[in-house]
Amino acid sequence: MAHKQLHVAMLASPGAGHLLPILLLGHRLATHHNLRVTVLAVTATASHSLSQLITSLTTHNHLSVIQIPAADVSGVAPPDAQVILQLCVMMRETIPAIRTTISALDSRPHVLVGDIFAIESCVIAEELGIPKYVFVTGNAWFTALFTYSPVLDKLVVGEYVDQKEPLEIPGCKPVRPEDVTDPLPNRYDETYNVYLDYAVRVTLADGLLINTWEDLEPQSLDALRTNEILRSVVKYKPVYTVGPVNKRYEPELVVLKDGVIEWLDKQPNRSVIYVSFGSGGTMSAEQIKELAWGLELSRQRFVWVVRPPTGHRPDGSFFSDGQSDATFDYLPEGFLTRNKHVGFVVPSWAPQMEILNHTSVAGFLTHCGWNSVLESLTSGVPMIAWPLYAEQKMNAAMLTEELKVAMRPEVSPTEKVVDREQIARMVMNLVEGEEGKAMKMKVDILKDGTDKAISENGSSYLSIYNGNRWIRGIITHGTT
Ligand code: UDP
Repeated sequence: MAHKQLHVAMLASPGAGHLLPILLLGHRLATHHNLRVTVLAVTATASHSLSQLITSLTTHNHLSVIQIPAADVSGVAPPDAQVILQLCVMMRETIPAIRTTISALDSRPHVLVGDIFAIESCVIAEELGIPKYVFVTGNAWFTALFTYSPVLDKLVVGEYVDQKEPLEIPGCKPVRPEDVTDPLPNRYDETYNVYLDYAVRVTLADGLLINTWEDLEPQSLDALRTNEILRSVVKYKPVYTVGPVNKRYEPELVVLKDGVIEWLDKQPNRSVIYVSFGSGGTMSAEQIKELAWGLELSRQRFVWVVRPPTGHRPDGSFFSDGQSDATFDYLPEGFLTRNKHVGFVVPSWAPQMEILNHTSVAGFLTHCGWNSVLESLTSGVPMIAWPLYAEQKMNAAMLTEELKVAMRPEVSPTEKVVDREQIARMVMNLVEGEEGKAMKMKVDILKDGTDKAISENGSSYLSIYNGNRWIRGIITHGTT
């Protein structure tokens, strides 16, 4: 057994924010820990950009990717259901296809790792008698709130957002009511109950892997491991830090070399603000116009990944992963012409990791998806934190108040729009101002921390190394 290569099956639910970290962790396990990895990617749409990334990663001998089309849930989940509910239903309905795919593999996996939405597939690991892990693609603070939410449900009276005091999570920094993760703000929606159910189910796993590192979140990690209340909530399961998984950016992962990189090559060092709202973020038509004007008024260079407005849903493009046409008719008249020498507008999807690693980039206006945050930190790029949905408001609070590597706009409570003057001021300040300089210094220190965490004998490296030995022990001796 000592020489037998461990085979890890990794299950990713739909959405770039789930698939990409699973692929990158899989790549890390295969290249740095010599494991055989099979990624089972449940996909809801055929995305060209993700297919390209998958192709680039599968050139590695020990990593293979199998795409499993998500079950059609149109008759099961209401069409206007929250993304979280749709994902849960999709993953549940796809279990038979996942089971069939795993049983058709040429060698039986020794362990199953899945993201939070893959938790129902733990039943497959149980059928096979193999250990199962949940890979949380968010951070430890979010993990604490998520796993504690069934308890909060009993403690909080009325709506979360109406609470007068911050919500206490044992041992962790409290969360301001207005920053709580979706779907907590709407506890009368069906999604809320499904979410609480998932919060209990993740603790059925043999352990939690979190896309963070020890020095970034010592307080929340300590609470998850030693605070009696939180430990009992996570059923005393071990918590491993494995992040940031995007770190050690490897040239063979670069697949989307295109016009935007060539444009960045021609810009001065640290002069460009990169603007993107993740794989699914969208805004109202009015907000898009204000943002366009704000960028123009700032007189700074920019790369903007822009999508058409989609009503009032901030996650309106979640299931389309960058599929949209490039008629920018929703931008202010003449915007593209006036800004053609200072700005580069990309429809829907851009090679983000490569952009953030480019020396011309000075700042990132981001929706604060955790992958985007990590990509910015590991590239040493300070941010403007503009959260839209999911746990992004918590991430924004962490970046601005605790780590002090980002500034956050004020949204008018009546208009619900960030105006152009504020946007222009923040962009100027981030790229040229003193505040931006101070943030750059702080983010560089964090960047060094990520280097340490994932280097050989760093905390995240050792977490995986020791976990790997532990799993080998189970396989060899048949006990935990
Ligand atoms: N991404 C990208 N190009 C884009 C938009 C997103 O490569 O134009 C990648 C980004 O680098 C990140 C992931 O998609 O790895 C999005 O994950 P995140 O957690 O930031 O946000 P989500 O899309 O899940 O809200």
